[in-house]
Amino acid sequence: MAGRISRRSMLRGGVQAGAAMALPRMAWGALAGAKPLEEVGYGQVTMKSPLLVSQRESSHAVLMGLDNVDLVKPYRVMCGMKDAPGEDLGGWYTYNADFNYRVWQKTGFCPGHTLGQWVSALSRYYATTGDVATRDKVLAINKLYALTGMCSAEAAQFYAKTRFIAYTYDKLTCGLVDSATLVKDPDAWKILGATTDQAMKALPGHAVEYGTHWRAGKDDSYSWDESYTLPENLYRAYGAGAGARYRQMAAQYLDDPLYFDLLAKNEPVIAGKHAYSHVNAMSSAMQAYLVEGSDKHLRAAKNGFAMVQAQSFATGGWGPDELLRKPGSEDVFESLTKSHNSFETPCGAYGHMKLTRYLLRVTRDGHYGDSLERVLWNTVLGALPLRADGTAFYYQDLNFKGTKKYSDSVWPCCSGTLPQVANDYGICSYFRESAAAHGHSAVWVSQYFESELRWQEDGSPVLLEQRAPQGQAAYPLGDTVEFRVSVEKPTRFALKLRIPVWCEKATIYVNGAKVPVQPVLGFATVQQVWRDGDRVELELPAKVRLEQSFATHPEVVAVMYGPLVLFAQTKEQPKITKEQALGARRVSRGVWVVDTASGSLKLVPYTDVGDAEYATYLRMT
Ligand SMILES: [Zn+2]
Repeated sequence: MAGRISRRSMLRGGVQAGAAMALPRMAWGALAGAKPLEEVGYGQVTMKSPLLVSQRESSHAVLMGLDNVDLVKPYRVMCGMKDAPGEDLGGWYTYNADFNYRVWQKTGFCPGHTLGQWVSALSRYYATTGDVATRDKVLAINKLYALTGMCSAEAAQFYAKTRFIAYTYDKLTCGLVDSATLVKDPDAWKILGATTDQAMKALPGHAVEYGTHWRAGKDDSYSWDESYTLPENLYRAYGAGAGARYRQMAAQYLDDPLYFDLLAKNEPVIAGKHAYSHVNAMSSAMQAYLVEGSDKHLRAAKNGFAMVQAQSFATGGWGPDELLRKPGSEDVFESLTKSHNSFETPCGAYGHMKLTRYLLRVTRDGHYGDSLERVLWNTVLGALPLRADGTAFYYQDLNFKGTKKYSDSVWPCCSGTLPQVANDYGICSYFRESAAAHGHSAVWVSQYFESELRWQEDGSPVLLEQRAPQGQAAYPLGDTVEFRVSVEKPTRFALKLRIPVWCEKATIYVNGAKVPVQPVLGFATVQQVWRDGDRVELELPAKVRLEQSFATHPEVVAVMYGPLVLFAQTKEQPKITKEQALGARRVSRGVWVVDTASGSLKLVPYTDVGDAEYATYLRMT
């Protein structure tokens, strides 16, 4: 109710009747095959939401606190350099010649693995904030890395020792692409070229599936490498101007015979595969579409993602115990009692957000934005913060008896992806379509959190601010998202707003006047000439609802509010009926209470569960 009052109080000037024009459904045909939506630059989006900013800042502070000499130590040691100064970081990051995966030692699983991801995260942070100390750290790390032996024949010794030739090279490539494009490191392409020369001598000649033994005399753990994920960053290197060899290599490592050819035919080949790396590989298929125009790879990514969605939890997460399952199997349901390793959160969320970003750009289908939104709010934003000693959040626990806890090994894979994904929320939220595409330009808003987007329209700057109405909770706890347009001169563009599929009745007001909402593939359009100070309000009213995730267990439901799963704070399953669950009372901004036969039950979003025991799913009686 407060929203209505504040909107009236904001009314200024004349109401523009008919200001909004939804794109008629007929027009979609004309858009099919249109150019993918453009990504915005990291520096164009300013995140304002305290929850999102604090995750980015806290993980950034950890990276800034790492000593550059320590960071390159495993490369120096493994390349056989006599001079390898610095301290060991410990955990996965440190080289341990005696590492034995059968007894799972905490030290030495994947030495040096996150260096490229951290260089990538720092580069993205610099591009977003312009922080000079961060830029200087990237330049300094790259200089030190180039002298470790990884760019010369000594690299053969590193690759002979590591279990993860492709995994490590893939991350280094990502970091150097971001160093070249975002930090403008003048040496980045040279360093990548020399790294690639050496890596090529050690890599398999084509994508090798997880679990395939291809290195003589090595134990099982050496078969867990992920060469099928290489093409994404290789295509990115090619697209950014690193050279034609990266395009050839990308094509060489596309996992067509065992994966993409089958996914393109909608064969359920994902069953039993390692979850994160095979979802991540779908982003390689998307890059094959974006760079080569390969329809087969677009089909593979769309079909594959649909298979993942069909076995996802209400949180948007997937892959309990890091395995994708046979579609329709009982495995995911059984994991609610058998496993606490329900979703590899930072890595999975990073992979999920890249893939849904690519799919949204190509298909213009808002359901990919819906999916990204769930993973954002119900998984990664609630990850425990990365700590300076490498203590990191890994698995989200969706067990009937769940808790939030850290991984028992420091510097795991997820300590590499958390700083990356925390820098990517902005570019997942907005997309641009320049006027040349089909007659008018547009800004697509996929994610709703307090933020600002800046761009040039007809050579003139435009600022789009997104915020919560005065005195109200920010979305998704609040129902209304406010936009304010700042322009130097009247400027025409279309504003495309995602209408989430859970929202039964969205309303849009332009300068206080209600305009028609006719979503096409989940996006409503407001097209007009914008004047300085114009305001748009998007109302997305949510109410408590119940959602089933398991076809054979309709009595097991998640309590939802908009995109949020509400986690019940309880040690034991309560005696609760659907009517009771649907009657959840909101007692404060982020707390709901349900009265059940076994007492009153408190429910909160994942970001607020703290260290209390919780149940993601409730069994209705
Ligand atoms: Zn991970």
